[in-house]
Amino acid sequence: MSAQPSPQPAASEAEPQPLRTVVHKFGGTSVADAERFRHVAQLLLARDEREQITVVSAMKGVTDALIDLCNRAAGGDAEWRDRWHGLRARHRGAAVALLGEASGQVLEWLDERFDKLKAILDALGVIGGLPHDVLERVQGLGEVCSARLLGEYLRAKGEDTAVLDARDVLVVERSDLGVVVDWETSAAKLAGWRAQNPQPRVVVTGFVARDRQGRFATLGRNGSDYSGAIFAALFNAAELHIWTDVDGVLSADPRVVPEAVQLGALSYDEACELAYFGAKVVHPQTMAPAIERGLPIIIRNTFQPEHPGTRITAERGPSGPVKGLTLSPDLAVVNLEGTGLIGVPGTAERVFAALRDARVSVVMISQGSSEHSICCVVKSGEAKQAQAALLGAFAHELHIGQIQRVQLRDGVSVLAAVGDGMAGTPGVAARLFESLGRAQVNILAIAQGSSERNISVAIDSGDAAKALRAAHAGFWLSPQTFAVAVIGPGNVGATLLDQLRAAQPQLLGKANLDLRLCAIASSRRMLLDDRGLTGDWRAAFAAAGQPSDLDRIAGHLEGTHLPHLAIVDCSASPEVAARYPGWLAAGIHVVTPNKQAGAGALAQYAAIRDAAAASGARFRYEATVGAGLPVISTLRDLLDTGDELLSIEGIFSGTLAWLFNRFDGSVPFSQLVGEARSLGYTEPDPRDDLSGVDVARKLTILAREAGRDLSLEDVRVESLVPESLRGGGVDGFMARLPEIDAAFADRLAQAKAGGKVLRYVAKLDAAGKASVGLVELPADHAFAHLRLTDNIVQFTTRRYNENPLIVQGPGAGPEVTAAGVFADLLRVAAGQGAKL
Ligand code: ADP
Ligand code: ASP
Ligand code: MG
Repeated sequence: MSAQPSPQPAASEAEPQPLRTVVHKFGGTSVADAERFRHVAQLLLARDEREQITVVSAMKGVTDALIDLCNRAAGGDAEWRDRWHGLRARHRGAAVALLGEASGQVLEWLDERFDKLKAILDALGVIGGLPHDVLERVQGLGEVCSARLLGEYLRAKGEDTAVLDARDVLVVERSDLGVVVDWETSAAKLAGWRAQNPQPRVVVTGFVARDRQGRFATLGRNGSDYSGAIFAALFNAAELHIWTDVDGVLSADPRVVPEAVQLGALSYDEACELAYFGAKVVHPQTMAPAIERGLPIIIRNTFQPEHPGTRITAERGPSGPVKGLTLSPDLAVVNLEGTGLIGVPGTAERVFAALRDARVSVVMISQGSSEHSICCVVKSGEAKQAQAALLGAFAHELHIGQIQRVQLRDGVSVLAAVGDGMAGTPGVAARLFESLGRAQVNILAIAQGSSERNISVAIDSGDAAKALRAAHAGFWLSPQTFAVAVIGPGNVGATLLDQLRAAQPQLLGKANLDLRLCAIASSRRMLLDDRGLTGDWRAAFAAAGQPSDLDRIAGHLEGTHLPHLAIVDCSASPEVAARYPGWLAAGIHVVTPNKQAGAGALAQYAAIRDAAAASGARFRYEATVGAGLPVISTLRDLLDTGDELLSIEGIFSGTLAWLFNRFDGSVPFSQLVGEARSLGYTEPDPRDDLSGVDVARKLTILAREAGRDLSLEDVRVESLVPESLRGGGVDGFMARLPEIDAAFADRLAQAKAGGKVLRYVAKLDAAGKASVGLVELPADHAFAHLRLTDNIVQFTTRRYNENPLIVQGPGAGPEVTAAGVFADLLRVAAGQGAKL
């Protein structure tokens, strides 16, 4: 065979090699239409091989379409005629596009096939049923057509090419373990065929074969990979290349885990397990013919021919314990349960025998060590049969009460972790369970193959995508991923969003943490995004037209199927806080600087704690006190290490700290308030600061953290706003503010006279009494020497008694508050396994 100039020589083949026989298998996506056929031909022609055997699938979707035609015709649905026309037109169109004027003969051939098909479909309508033989015959037509198309195209290019209908040589038999090849007969038939067809290039139909009686057969859905391996064996090939639409075998299905990584090499065993448990990229039976002959299988990308792909051989490369993860959907769990099972030998055998007799194949079996129950995972379609078989087999035991029930649970998937390196590596199962537990995935049954190459868990199918992503991240195969919603993009919220965006690349790169912003909601509008907002969130949010709906946010996050969900509430709204118990119960972490929950009604606070404890979701609110300062975490550490709190004292308001730091009598108090307001140190209405309620809320939060059942109403609050100024708008209040100056001047003078200073102080004493208000402090008191808006919190405890523990620093401002919230979010992520 002549060497063609290679447009993209494959890297691994740069070295000159002796000419060999190589089998190439192209899947449906690789031969979806005329353009792809051309691409495949070009790829084949660029290779220099002694014998080049190409096994092709049907054009993409054709097998499905053929099966659909059969079902419709058998079911009396006249719609099949239109679809039949469509399918014929698709093939004719491809022939014309490939062969142009030379397509006449092929078109005639195609018409003949499709006319025959039509006659069969008509007959199915008459019978009103679909005999197995007929289905086997019809569903293989796609391969027969695509092989002919590729063969004719190669011939039209001047290549000496033969087309082999596998049904002329390949003889198989159906068995319990799938389709097995009659090697001897097939080899003899192929030798006969080859004597007549000695061309160096052969195009072979995938998927199809005949049984020993000469009837049409197929190798099962996705079976062209298996055809590839069979023909590689029959042709004694040096390698089998399976060409598909991804770069090889990936660590998980890329449609579910977009971050899945390509695997350079796999052992046959690993590939078998992955394929058996649902990695659709290669059919599970493909490896068997290769194993016997030590034939390397290379899975590679038709659209990226220079990529080396995944090499599957007998070799076991050193690597992490888990190579890949798979999901098998559409399963059910049948559970045989009874106290009478304990210690009774042979029960498992009886279960297997009963299922086998009912022709139910068991995907997975797991038995509790107490032997109280035996649980089998079977295909959904066979679940009822399985249940009936067990009810029958154990009728006596059920009757006398030795077995209580045979339960059926549908809608189950099995997640399997696969890797040769798992054997002898402790902790793999624990890591898997931990990842799933953190993602709130309930495990229904567990099985570990004795080869220790596979751990499988049965889970609810609704959890499957989330579980796969969580496990994938759990083994460091992809980042820990969070879907994050930010509520309240005001001062703090907007700053947090900016900080989040700036930190994202670093978190992803260094900490393997992927925080995806999936929702932003203000009180009026919201923006929902499944994949995570990138780029300018302000512009995206400004363009969002959806009215805000708090009730939809949780559902939206859940709909992303990401393993971890978090809502960051940067609003100050009690309505948002009222949602926390529901969110936490649903396993959504809540992080907030909003004091409404921490200082709200005790019943709601208890509901939040209970919900978090029950689901394992975290509720973090460090930024509610002292913004970014570690106030709550310090208190927690003290208490968790067994210290005992005697009192808390401090200045919790940056606004009030600034006002009294500055208030020395040189300017009236009202003027300072005006100044603070224009510097942005106060709330829009300064009365929210001056009333002291905000400080009281913070004290309530700390008191509760210390285990006291305190409510906001229990705090004695001295408001700095006199009764007469409490009503009316802000402007009116600011205009009348000088009315308070005289009283403040008096209090200052009084304090000064005693050598003291005025500070607005919060206090919780040992008896649990709480108060906030203006107090006189000695001029050398720690609280007298704060800078600007600094907060200070002083914990007096059994250990820190003479010399209390003090946390001090900037306690307000959007930057530090947002950073406090962000740090909380990262702590939640670390708790879920992020490497921070
Ligand atoms: P072909 O038509 O070439 O036989 P398939 O659709 O049968 O292709 O198989 C390839 C597809 O398998 C990929 O496009 C991918 O979506 C899916 N897939 C599922 N699991 C994996 C995995 N672990 N690695 C790679 N691909 C996978
Ligand atoms: N065409 C067959 C199917 O869709 C076989 C294959 O493509 O592997 O199942
Ligand atoms: Mg396939």
